[in-house]
Amino acid sequence: MKIEMHPVTIRELIDQYVEDEDTGEVRAYGGKLDVRPKYQREFVYDTKDSEAVIHTVLNGFPLNTMYWVEREDGSYEVLDGQQRTISICRFATNAAYSVRLPDPSGKGYNSVNYPNLFDNQREDFLNYPLQVYFCSGTEKEKMDWFQTINIAGKALKKQEIRNAVYASPWLTDAKSAFSRRNCAAHKQYGKYLSGECLRQDYLETILEWAASRDNITSEDVVSTYMQQHRNDDNADPLWDYCERIFGWVRKTFGNTTRKEMKGLPWGIMYNEHHEDKLDPKDVQNEVDRLMADGEVQSKKGIYEYVLDGKEKHLSLRTFDDADKRTAYEKQQGICPLCHNHFEYEEMAGDHIKPWSKGGKTIPENCQMLCIPCNTGKSNH
Ligand SMILES: [Zn+2]
Repeated sequence: MKIEMHPVTIRELIDQYVEDEDTGEVRAYGGKLDVRPKYQREFVYDTKDSEAVIHTVLNGFPLNTMYWVEREDGSYEVLDGQQRTISICRFATNAAYSVRLPDPSGKGYNSVNYPNLFDNQREDFLNYPLQVYFCSGTEKEKMDWFQTINIAGKALKKQEIRNAVYASPWLTDAKSAFSRRNCAAHKQYGKYLSGECLRQDYLETILEWAASRDNITSEDVVSTYMQQHRNDDNADPLWDYCERIFGWVRKTFGNTTRKEMKGLPWGIMYNEHHEDKLDPKDVQNEVDRLMADGEVQSKKGIYEYVLDGKEKHLSLRTFDDADKRTAYEKQQGICPLCHNHFEYEEMAGDHIKPWSKGGKTIPENCQMLCIPCNTGKSNH
């Protein structure tokens, strides 16, 4: 990897600046700079960040270094600095693009756009030297560098880095279904998915589920899955899989969505249970019943519980210290199962009648068991 510093003025940068709305392609620097190469993340800068960039430049303060990669054909792509570049170019080329900057008096803000600058301000702006590192090297070197500089700088999400490393037509297709504003995944299944589609959370989730279905075991199962599929023609199978998951969810749990359904590991549940013989009516009645059960503290866990019957999903109510202390004194420290004496700290609160048989977390239903007896009881 060869890295050299070159100052690039804003005048040079904004030369022939174009944003193609259809393809998402953005070019600058006389058409020679690909500002938004395919593997780069979506533009997620907010207005405040853009204003900070313009403010910095207008004051002549230094901006952080940018990285451009030299391509074999002599053109360049932005490796780091996409958002700063776009903010500067939009400000300088779009008269309608205005930013709110603090008034020099210290009182209030002014709305500033490029044509309104004084001549000398505009001249200083155009002559502002950006510190750009020109890098050349192999794809692998670029990607390693991409990860390094982003870890040092702004927090890129893990999936955004994976997208950079495994860029391919397959990935582009997958992103169109899972990672765009108003993508199909968001429109159809957004109520079941947590995170932001734009920041690649949906894509990461579906890839995790698919990797689990395929029994992939590695340190980073998503990367392994992406590596295996990056040369596929398209991501249709991934989308089909997603539709099968949520088709099953709707068939099993009904079409009405509760807020507790957001962000559950639906794909994992589908992988393990879609062949179970379940009566949707029974399942839905059971969910309704548990939702109304005050002993169930984790309502989100109900969906997994009705599939696998494991009470750990439900965070059932436990006895508080006062109830346990009262029971301990009544028992005079004797464990009712093994009849030995224990200190309070050596015992645990237990439901005499278990929750599964209708027992409640009330003082009358509390007994203290020694730890070994309590562990033995919960294993039966
Ligand atoms: Zn005991």
